Amino acid sequence: MSATILDGKRMSAELRAGLAGRVEALKRQGITPGLAVILVGQDPASEIYVRNKENGCAEIGVYSRTARMPEETTQEELEAQIEAFNRDERIHGILVQLPLPAHLDEQRALACVLPEKDVDGFHLVNAGHMLTGTPGVVACTPRGALHMIRQTGLALSGLEAVVVGRSNIVGKPMAMLLLQENCTVTLCHSRTRNLAEHTRRADILVVAVGKAGFITGDMVKPGAVVIDVGINRVDGKVRGDVDFDTVSEVAGWITPVPGGVGRMTITMLLENTVEAAEKRTHGC
Ligand code: NDP
Repeated sequence: MSATILDGKRMSAELRAGLAGRVEALKRQGITPGLAVILVGQDPASEIYVRNKENGCAEIGVYSRTARMPEETTQEELEAQIEAFNRDERIHGILVQLPLPAHLDEQRALACVLPEKDVDGFHLVNAGHMLTGTPGVVACTPRGALHMIRQTGLALSGLEAVVVGRSNIVGKPMAMLLLQENCTVTLCHSRTRNLAEHTRRADILVVAVGKAGFITGDMVKPGAVVIDVGINRVDGKVRGDVDFDTVSEVAGWITPVPGGVGRMTITMLLENTVEAAEKRTHGC
């Protein structure tokens, strides 16, 4: 293997130590940052994510509440729960765990979260900030991925960045963040022709497709930074969208799965929650 590992566990541990200090500082002023998670139904993967978020909160001293709602929850009941957390002074961040059961309207639910409590960065107001490059809440996964890219020490301005996957929660905001870093950005998706011709040009390649081992070594430029967002369960194991064995022979830097972007996503959720509490306390 020639690539340097971008270690999400180590980076998260450093960031979380800093966050714990900021939580302490808030507590000295009588404020405990609070995160509320709403989980509807019993999706096993969502259960794991929610537990990891609760553990992350406990680790840095953030107050956490989880509203577990049954599968048959109605849209009105879900929105009433969101409104209750909107009004709750102890709560600075609200996260609606996705995906919701099919009968619920995700966009309508996300629109109910107060933009200043939207620590996922999914509200249209925050999506607009992302698009215009104005201050708002930055979506956790792209924020974490950008932090990892910066750890390479490369000057990002002018680099070719290719993002594979155009979802609202990963691909599109990732492309916007890289654009703000003055990269030349290509956003690929399922209708892209000759995908490998694009990925082979990338100095920075971010993959968020949801297909295990989708990107192979022959699709990667030697020395590239490869960020694997994918989380796929195969035969009881978690695998990324990048074929680690072949790509790590070609890339300059690579994120592992697990222990890469997933870990950083939760750390960025904690950071967004602490920031929301600081903003409410200091008004900045
Ligand atoms: P979505 O299913 O919403 O989006 C997948 C994207 O991949 C779509 O834009 C789709 O294109 C594109 N795609 C599908 N097939 C191809 C193909 N053959 N060639 C090129 N593009 C293709 O997924 P998400 O963005 O929500 O998640 C992607 C992955 O990241 C999943 O594995 C998910 O579990 C993981 N994830 C990990 C997180 C983390 O913290 N590490 C956080 C969020 C997600 P089109 O739009 O044309 O359909």
